[in-house]
Amino acid sequence: EKMRRKEIRRTKTVCTYCGVGCSFDIWTKGRDILKVEPQPEAPANGISTCVKGKFGWDFINSPKRLTRPLVRRGERFYETSWEEALSLAAEKFTEVKESGGPDALGFIASSKCTNEEAYLMQKLARSVIGTNNVDNCSRYCQTPATKGLFRTVGYGGDAGSIRDIAEADLVITVGSNTADSHPVLATRIKRAHKLHGQKLVVVDLLEHEMAERADLFLRPESSTDFVWLAAVTRYIVDQGWHDTVFIEERVNGLDDYVDSLNPFTLDYAESVTGIPREKLIRLAEMLRDADSTCILWAMGVTQHTGGSDTSTAISNLLLITGNYGRPGTGAYPLRGHNNVQGTSDFGALPNVFPGYESVEDESVRRRYEREWGGELPKKAGLDNHSMLDSILKGGIRSLYIIGEDTAFSDSNSHHVQEAFRQLDFMVVQDLFLTKTARFADVVLPASPSLEKEGTFVNTERRVQRLYQAIDPLGDSRPDWIILRDLARRLGADWPYDHPGAVMAEAAKLASMFAGVTYDRLEGYKSLQWPVAPDGTDAPFLYADGFPTSDGKARLVPMPWTAPRRTEGGYDLLLNNGRMLEHFHEGNMTYRSRGIRHKVPSAYVEVSTELAAERGIRDGARVKLVSPFGEETVYALVSSRVRKKELYLSIHTDQASVNTLTGSDVDRATHTPAYKEVHVRLETLDRD
Ligand code: SF4
Repeated sequence: EKMRRKEIRRTKTVCTYCGVGCSFDIWTKGRDILKVEPQPEAPANGISTCVKGKFGWDFINSPKRLTRPLVRRGERFYETSWEEALSLAAEKFTEVKESGGPDALGFIASSKCTNEEAYLMQKLARSVIGTNNVDNCSRYCQTPATKGLFRTVGYGGDAGSIRDIAEADLVITVGSNTADSHPVLATRIKRAHKLHGQKLVVVDLLEHEMAERADLFLRPESSTDFVWLAAVTRYIVDQGWHDTVFIEERVNGLDDYVDSLNPFTLDYAESVTGIPREKLIRLAEMLRDADSTCILWAMGVTQHTGGSDTSTAISNLLLITGNYGRPGTGAYPLRGHNNVQGTSDFGALPNVFPGYESVEDESVRRRYEREWGGELPKKAGLDNHSMLDSILKGGIRSLYIIGEDTAFSDSNSHHVQEAFRQLDFMVVQDLFLTKTARFADVVLPASPSLEKEGTFVNTERRVQRLYQAIDPLGDSRPDWIILRDLARRLGADWPYDHPGAVMAEAAKLASMFAGVTYDRLEGYKSLQWPVAPDGTDAPFLYADGFPTSDGKARLVPMPWTAPRRTEGGYDLLLNNGRMLEHFHEGNMTYRSRGIRHKVPSAYVEVSTELAAERGIRDGARVKLVSPFGEETVYALVSSRVRKKELYLSIHTDQASVNTLTGSDVDRATHTPAYKEVHVRLETLDRD
């Protein structure tokens, strides 16, 4: 008994799934996960977790895990040593750099890796190779939200903490299926709504759980959020309900902004969005009556051709109503991946160093050159989307992708896969032989969060430590070790012996993390950036002004551009998004027994009207056809969707929504317009 107990370990970790950033103790014995035990001191979640955090860990022992490096010979992969795999990668990267220049290489970091790993990836690209072609999957989800916030208030993160959301008088969610996508955060809202009189407004196409609970549910036509936001803002100004004192003291640009709202009457908004004007007035009144309002939004807003502009409109509405800088107010873009916030914060973006300082600012670049040694590239690099275009035009010849199944998760999969086929050399580092890894020349086996140390940043800008609970499986290695060893083979003298040393370097260079140290993050302690050198952090932003040259925020007028409709008989909108049980491409959750047992496969939700009209029953197979491809999937007849709309989960190991999506992107950030896809439906199984 004594021996057996000795083998049992209890380790603090942070969830590997969504951006809520739940932390908990995980009990292990050898490689077995015994239980997940949340702790009251966990800052984001206390004693709560959702089904994924509790039961979604079997993937770490999946027989499909990669345990040895692989190299391609012809059509097949062969196991090899780390020595051979890393030497080959270094040799080929050098060859491509010498023949095509540093910008012939591209780097895609992972939003599931740690901050330290994101930092090393961008350092490898910039300092060792000499290119700013580095990006991460925030490009696929929340970059438009960050853009909207940079335009208006200056920081690309949530205005406050999750606990502030619970304190708001009024919570508005836009394009967020919060109960499925950010379950523990949704629980806080449900409790405040039920027990403390908080008002809840939900704006979405899908009538999900939060919509059912809402005091007001608005259901706009797809891609028209910008119009109702502008109309409600104009109505508030017309009624004189805007916060003139706040605007006078803290905001620039009122006159031009108000002029830009002229076309957005309630009648116009009703005609474009389909939301009755009475409901728009009701929303304006609720904003007037609430002392504090926060707005939460997610991919239902951002994954459109106008995603950045709509995000800007949300922030404008908050400024007009004086809803920044006080508890319970502000903008909350909800981050998807566990570390999508941190991967961007720590510089895996083509235009900024860690802490969002421009690569084109000479004084900033000099600082990094002094620390890293050597000259750094002066111009911003290419984002994910532009890298793929560049490959097809013969620019980029080599890619290094960590932990992203881009062949599956980027829009228009056929286009992406065509680009991969054109590459001279590709390295993929992951847990599994993903669809993307199958295109690689070298595949490097990485370790998941439980097998390494480091830090993540959750949606509320909170930096948290995770500790190693179990040893890496087989010959797999933590990504930071692989990056360090590859850099050494490329001639860089990287001394790091622990992720803490990487964080110390980032803190020295980026003022946003100046006071971040591993000691200050010990156990369940955490810090919300920006962190001053003395360790003072920022649970709440903008109380003393905005991070702009004059300390004021900006109201930014944006033009409204109606979305392009797909021509040619594609009569149904294919809305898409998450479900509670699974996560993204499903590489982890479909390999977790309990979760797979509960939801064994993806399905498309079809309205009762459409099902009756087309003779579709629950469980029937239907074929979805778009201009870009087709997929066969099971149907679920559902009251959550409207007649001409479908809802397909993005997580599936069978049918992929990105076989159907096209290449349209957000105008400002190149985030794919995943939500602007129309299909036609063919019924395969009839009664
Ligand atoms: Fe993990 Fe998110 Fe669930 Fe928390 S809410 S346990 S972070 S998936």
